[in-house]
Amino acid sequence: MSVYVTSSEEETVALGRRLAQELPSRAVVLLIGDLGAGKTTLAKGIVDGLGAAAPEEVCSPTFTLVHEYGRRPKVYHVDLYRIGKAQELESVGLEELLEQEAVLLVEWGERFPHLWPPDRIEIHLRRLDDDRREIKVKLGVRGHGPENSSGRP
Ligand code: ADP
Ligand code: MG
Repeated sequence: MSVYVTSSEEETVALGRRLAQELPSRAVVLLIGDLGAGKTTLAKGIVDGLGAAAPEEVCSPTFTLVHEYGRRPKVYHVDLYRIGKAQELESVGLEELLEQEAVLLVEWGERFPHLWPPDRIEIHLRRLDDDRREIKVKLGVRGHGPENSSGRP
């Protein structure tokens, strides 16, 4: 697990850009934290770092549920904040998104933990004060690669 502290919105975007460099072309990234923690801000940096869209083109998919950016890698940005029940998830079409060679960025995904693959990446964001955010990056359980044969993240 890696822990970062950013001191401005710009620093969080910059961290997202850096994290993007380490993402495989197919990944599920859960962005976990309260309203205003910086989930959408970090997503802007990740989308930019992947070369999929400029940060100012990235906004919260709270009402539209899914935004799609770029191709190769394709990036989907999903916000499940307004999804109340599991059955409403059908309108998001997540299964189809999960099958694709794409980076899937998910806000409020922790509300539906059964949906995500074990090798998902979890990023926990926490507001420390007005301008500072603690950002913890946890890698999921991978396959049987030599770099992690313990079965632990
Ligand atoms: P969320 O998607 O988690 O609800 P947003 O990214 O939409 O959060 O909003 C984060 C808010 O916090 C923005 O208004 C942003 O300007 C502010 N902010 C202040 N400091 C930071 C920081 N270090 N990182 C990210 N956002 C910050
Ligand atoms: Mg948001």
